[in-house]
Amino acid sequence: MQAGLLGELLERLGLGESELQERLDFLSWGPEDQARLSLAKPQAEPLNRAFVEALYNRLSEFSVPAAILADRQTVQRLKARQHAYYQTLFDGCIDESYVRERLQIGQVHERVGVDLKWYMGGYRLYLSSLLHGMLGPVEQQALETYDSLLKVVFLDMTLAAEAYIAAKHGALQASEARFAHALRGANDGIWDWDLDSDELYVSDRWANMLGYTPLQVGTTSAAWFALVHPEDVSGLEDAIDQHLTGRTPTIMHEYRILRSEGEYLRVLLRGVLETVAGRRRLAGSQTDISERFQVQAQLEYAARHDALTGLINRVQLNQVLQDTEQRLKREGARCAALLFIDLDRFKLINDSLGHAAGDNVLVHVARRLQGCLRPGDHLARFGGDEFIMLLDDLARPEDAEVVAARVLARLREPLQFGERCLIVSASIGVAQLRPGVALADSLQAADMALYSAKEAGKARYRLYSDDMQARVRQRLRLESNLLQALQYGQFELHYQPVLDMRLPQPSAPVAVEALLRWQYEGQSIAPIEFIPILEESGEIVPVGYWVLETACRQSVSWHAHGRPDLLCSVNLSGLQLLEVDFVERVREILQRTGMPPTLLVLEITESLLIDRSGATLVALRELAAMGIQIALDDFGTGYCSLGYLNRFPLHIIKLDRGFLQNAHASEQNMTICKAIIGLSAGLKLKVIAEGIERPEQVQLLLQENCHYGQGYLFSRPLPANELSALIGK
Ligand code: C2E
Ligand code: CA
Ligand code: CA
Repeated sequence: MQAGLLGELLERLGLGESELQERLDFLSWGPEDQARLSLAKPQAEPLNRAFVEALYNRLSEFSVPAAILADRQTVQRLKARQHAYYQTLFDGCIDESYVRERLQIGQVHERVGVDLKWYMGGYRLYLSSLLHGMLGPVEQQALETYDSLLKVVFLDMTLAAEAYIAAKHGALQASEARFAHALRGANDGIWDWDLDSDELYVSDRWANMLGYTPLQVGTTSAAWFALVHPEDVSGLEDAIDQHLTGRTPTIMHEYRILRSEGEYLRVLLRGVLETVAGRRRLAGSQTDISERFQVQAQLEYAARHDALTGLINRVQLNQVLQDTEQRLKREGARCAALLFIDLDRFKLINDSLGHAAGDNVLVHVARRLQGCLRPGDHLARFGGDEFIMLLDDLARPEDAEVVAARVLARLREPLQFGERCLIVSASIGVAQLRPGVALADSLQAADMALYSAKEAGKARYRLYSDDMQARVRQRLRLESNLLQALQYGQFELHYQPVLDMRLPQPSAPVAVEALLRWQYEGQSIAPIEFIPILEESGEIVPVGYWVLETACRQSVSWHAHGRPDLLCSVNLSGLQLLEVDFVERVREILQRTGMPPTLLVLEITESLLIDRSGATLVALRELAAMGIQIALDDFGTGYCSLGYLNRFPLHIIKLDRGFLQNAHASEQNMTICKAIIGLSAGLKLKVIAEGIERPEQVQLLLQENCHYGQGYLFSRPLPANELSALIGK
């Protein structure tokens, strides 16, 4: 008998010292009782002995106790114990250890299956027997009556005791029912596995989760394990084993289990080992975590994929690249290469058509790129309009270039969005992945190759070569020096005349366009090389103010030297117009230099007009209100819709030289030229043709009533001093 259980019983019965005392008080037990009993002990001894014999004889007449007392030796032992017990009654020494002993015996009797009725009935027989033995036959009549009374009283006592116990049991059952109810509500399945007998109990909920009843699940661990996903069996066994061997305080394990419909459910198993009466039982709960798992899986997916295109992102690409790196180390591994793909002029699409259209383009491009992949290849969105293609498993290194060429061709096909048709191109840097070369270096190599593809004129691919490194370094040096160019006074303005082509040539210009030059290490660097860098760094803003102020000063000087009507064009970058105080600063510069606003032309490009905040429109209106003229530069090359033309305060349209270049040869370009000139006339806008290089272009323009033009035919952009003579004419 476990001390723990007895202690528990003592506690449950509340049998502390005071409780015992109370019981004794109620029984009117006093020291005199003990004295009387011990005095009678010698006389009682034979009576007790005789009674034990009589009791066992009597018990053997009833089938249930007879079955328990079948073994002779056991009976002998029990009789001796019984006798000893009856003797201790006459010691009358009732203390805690006495109580303890009695409770223990009661528990033993209950365990071996001696019902309360035999136990209590035995006491009745004993009292009756001792009554007769101690008092003798003297008052036979009264004894008989009293004995009858004992019988009724003991029957009642037995019934009362059983009623008490039944009531207690009922309460226990009710609390178990509440517990079971709570479990049903808890949404967790309950399981209980007797490890020694391999009996498994699972609750309704446990089975229902899988679309079964507990009966269908079965009652052995084998039935349970048969449902576990084959890949998860060993993990589950490990988790259980770790707990059984004391390495984990509880079982907490996720695994997949088969549902009746044939799909697997993700569950969390919890459990703990308990040893009851020497039997080991594992029991716990099982929770359906499929939803949580799904959310988690979605989060994990999102962390590794690009939301717009669904392609893998940088994080996942890194993982994939590492796998490739491992693969390349193996002997006989096939080649691999990286394609760094960047869309050309994507910013223009974004700025002029809006971000939604830009996104749309990216999605379509992603799909096309995916169409170029072979099994085993990977495609990642690296950033804005940058994609990385990993070509795994190439037979020959040169195959990477074949793929790059195919990608370029595929991207060139026009994209159709509803009514709109767009042509996008891309530049590609190709780099081989070599065993032993760090991934970061390979990526950088592809990036450098991309850079040279862009430099070489875009819409092409370039294979990385070692000399690129030196060139890129040179380029970076250039960039860092550029950002200090303003400070070191390395910028200069050249001016290109705009002529009225109706006048006999050479004629004095009606206007000049200020064009920026950077004097760097003895060279004059053209704006196409450095304006994008200035824009990227934001440095274009201070440089732009410098250009405006310098051009105004120069103009004012020409005004004072005989050309008070000379117009001056200054190019603006989009960033400048977004400066909140741009209009104010322009006003200041005009005041400071004495430049009349009516002689200033600000040139903007189409993409600037599509500013969703409306700030550009406001700024342009204020500038126009000051008397400044606004020219739309490079007209026809952006993605501007004609609807913008009359919404903005425009005065001049500059016909891009691209249309003029082949106008005499290409029917289509000729048509566009005529259309733009006609449209501008209709909108009462002046047209200036750019890039006039041949006399026949002049003829053509004059025929169409376009009177103003600039180009190498008349003059290249020149420093102010070289131009002064021409201007005065
Ligand atoms: P743009 O505004 O279209 O300027 C005209 C460009 O065409 C100039 O190039 C000019 O030299 C060139 N050009 C003129 N006539 C001919 C010709 O007959 N044939 C050919 N092939 N080209 C001709 P440039 O000076 O290299 O400037 C390039 C672009 O840089 C400009 O194009 C303008 O967009 C930008 N840019 C120049 N200066 C500035 C500036 O101060 N601020 C800003 N934001 N942009 C500027
Ligand atoms: Ca211009
Ligand atoms: Ca232009």
